[in-house]
Amino acid sequence: MICYPVETLPRPDLPAYRALRDDLELVTTLIVPPRDARCWTIPAGHFCRIVSHEGPQVGDLNLFNTHNLDERLFTGKTRALNGTHVGPGDQLFSNFPYLRPMATITHDTLDWYGFDEFGGAVHDVIGTRCDPYTHNLLSDGGQYHHCCHSNLTRALAQHCDMTPEQAERHVHDVLNVFMCTGFTRDTGQYFMKASPVRPGDYLEFFAEFELLGCLSTCPGGDCSTGHSSDAAACYPLVVEVMKPTRMPSGWTAPQVNGYDRCHGI
Ligand SMILES: [Zn+2]
Repeated sequence: MICYPVETLPRPDLPAYRALRDDLELVTTLIVPPRDARCWTIPAGHFCRIVSHEGPQVGDLNLFNTHNLDERLFTGKTRALNGTHVGPGDQLFSNFPYLRPMATITHDTLDWYGFDEFGGAVHDVIGTRCDPYTHNLLSDGGQYHHCCHSNLTRALAQHCDMTPEQAERHVHDVLNVFMCTGFTRDTGQYFMKASPVRPGDYLEFFAEFELLGCLSTCPGGDCSTGHSSDAAACYPLVVEVMKPTRMPSGWTAPQVNGYDRCHGI
């Protein structure tokens, strides 16, 4: 059976969010250079788009509560509630003890892709992020400094005026924007294939409260052949933040989780 039946999960009123999309004011544009990362804030109730630019490129996204970096994207429970890949109407949840929607996905130009014949799909919440530790483990001591984990660490350190050691502790498992992934049917291994993303494609979400975003342009480029090296062709990604004229009708800001935290003690 389904581990977490979602019939009782409060669902966003997607048409109410989407009704605001015709009248959005662009307030921030940010370019994330190849093999690097950038941070930006998204005010509560604003929309954010991650846009493909110049060529096919995968992005690794971290999300935080701007005012409390301890609250951050929890891909494990987001996956348990939404499935392995996310799309319009899915919500991205924060970690314990907060466990509430951080963002609602409102549009995806790659929604047409669905699941392919190999079980591959785009925008996964399964792949953690490429990182120099796993690379070191698998490459007999190799040192590479532009994995998504390091890119996110550098960007967060710079944005929050932290040391790299402080910033690294906040970096967490990502939403793999535009990445095409799945599990092999015979061995259950995590696989990737060339992303179908093309310039102009975008993933759009609504910030349920004020968010700090941090996005890395993966050194794997479209992730068709590899990552954790400078071999792949890489392109910038563009981040746009847009302000609607009002909030979605019937919308209320999500409160932190109502569990009383007694744990039976
Ligand atoms: Zn990466």
